[in-house]
Amino acid sequence: MAPRSPDGGDLRGPISRIGVLALQGAVREHERAITEIGAEAVRVRLPRDLAGLDALVLPGGESTTMRKLIDAYGLREPILALAHAGAPMLGTCAGMILLADRIIDGDEPVFRLLDLAVRRNGYGRQLDSFEADLETPGLPGGPLHGVFIRAPIVEDVGRAVEILARDADGRPVAVRQGQVLATAFHPELTSDRRLHRLLRQLIADRAEARR
Ligand code: GLN
Repeated sequence: MAPRSPDGGDLRGPISRIGVLALQGAVREHERAITEIGAEAVRVRLPRDLAGLDALVLPGGESTTMRKLIDAYGLREPILALAHAGAPMLGTCAGMILLADRIIDGDEPVFRLLDLAVRRNGYGRQLDSFEADLETPGLPGGPLHGVFIRAPIVEDVGRAVEILARDADGRPVAVRQGQVLATAFHPELTSDRRLHRLLRQLIADRAEARR
């Protein structure tokens, strides 16, 4: 029988190494989530930390600070190279902003790996943070509880983008485009590991395809 991870999923082959960009923001909770799904969490601060990673998580935080640090540490090109080589990515909240092709009313886009437009802090000042049950058309297992903290609103999505979850107004809040996943909310702050498990599944599918 295949070994099982702590959350019950099959673990075939070597343990996946999933990086977490650790310049700023919600790093530790992602590390815990990664460990819980039976993968190894690796902190990424410098380009050399990206070596041998199977996937990368871009956490929540402050996208303006993160973009400055990404460039200060010379991480922009090597992260893009990792993505273009086919490594799965998961961006949460500020991480979604870093992945977006278009940022409305604001900064230049950073990685442009997701064909969508986001508006920073789009849910409004009164709603600095809130929690909501989300419909999950693209994820098995029914509604998902989302924690939103000064979250971006997804204003527009390209046709290649699959909607995994929507808010009560029908706006996309979790998306997938090929190997790239992103959420407007913070999946690492609840015990629901579906997004992290999907990331691990993309790693496994890629390994299978390369065999
Ligand atoms: N408001 C932040 C930004 O614009 C994102 C907040 C978060 O990641 N929790 O970067």
